[in-house]
Amino acid sequence: MNKLEIKHIFMNYHSMAGETEAIKDVSLIVNKGDFVSIVGPSGSGKSTLLNIIAGLIKPSKGKILVDGQNLENFSGQFGYMFQKDELFEWLNIYKNVLIGLKVKHRETPSNIKKIEEMLKEYKLLEFKNHYPSELSGGMRQRASLIRTLALNPEILILDEPFSALDYQSRLRASDEIYKIIKQEGKTVIMVTHDISEAISMSQRIIIFSKRPAKIKKEISIDFKDNSLTPLQKRADPRFREYFDSVWKELEIDE
Ligand code: ADP
Repeated sequence: MNKLEIKHIFMNYHSMAGETEAIKDVSLIVNKGDFVSIVGPSGSGKSTLLNIIAGLIKPSKGKILVDGQNLENFSGQFGYMFQKDELFEWLNIYKNVLIGLKVKHRETPSNIKKIEEMLKEYKLLEFKNHYPSELSGGMRQRASLIRTLALNPEILILDEPFSALDYQSRLRASDEIYKIIKQEGKTVIMVTHDISEAISMSQRIIIFSKRPAKIKKEISIDFKDNSLTPLQKRADPRFREYFDSVWKELEIDE
């Protein structure tokens, strides 16, 4: 995958109560290796757009193209991470991270080896026989990400991935998850309501207007030093400036 194109997406929901216009003409290009975050008022259509990109719902109008081809043929390229880690409590961590491969009949020796390498690299190997309830929230999110990465998706879709965690854990988890994503060279589209999280992790922030969602502004994030971790970026003087710019845009919508 080199390029994901979101082209003139419109979405209207129909229900007994009437029609809800959720998205109104959103277009966006995401290149390989990008980390793009979408922020905006609650109920503005962010999750709706993620679901459309993931092919889970069909837009009323518009297209999603991967390298110029219609999305239908590319659903295998997406991996997901949600607020809830969706680990199975009755399976140990090893079985949890293996389950995707099992379901897809892809338990090849090389895929299993890759999982073991990731468990080791991302400090979960010694917990492989533990059950999810014995792990911290951040460790659970790491396990959930390894399970997703096992299927080797090109694009990761993160929907409020840390919002179930307490403040300290979410700072640490976003740092760790960021490191894994960069190391594995994945392309990411993340929805978050946390401006600081968006600034510390992304290269671009897309600000949605209130419903129906339109792109109000796009802000490029560049801390000049690519080796900075999300935690280090929070301490950089540029962080405050980016925060103020994003905040101002969101505030105008109140
Ligand atoms: P966000 O993720 O920005 O909080 P959503 O994409 O979840 O927003 O929702 C956008 C709007 O669409 C909201 O007004 C919501 O009530 C409405 N909506 C979402 N899903 C449905 C649905 N399945 N049927 C009807 N309306 C929906």
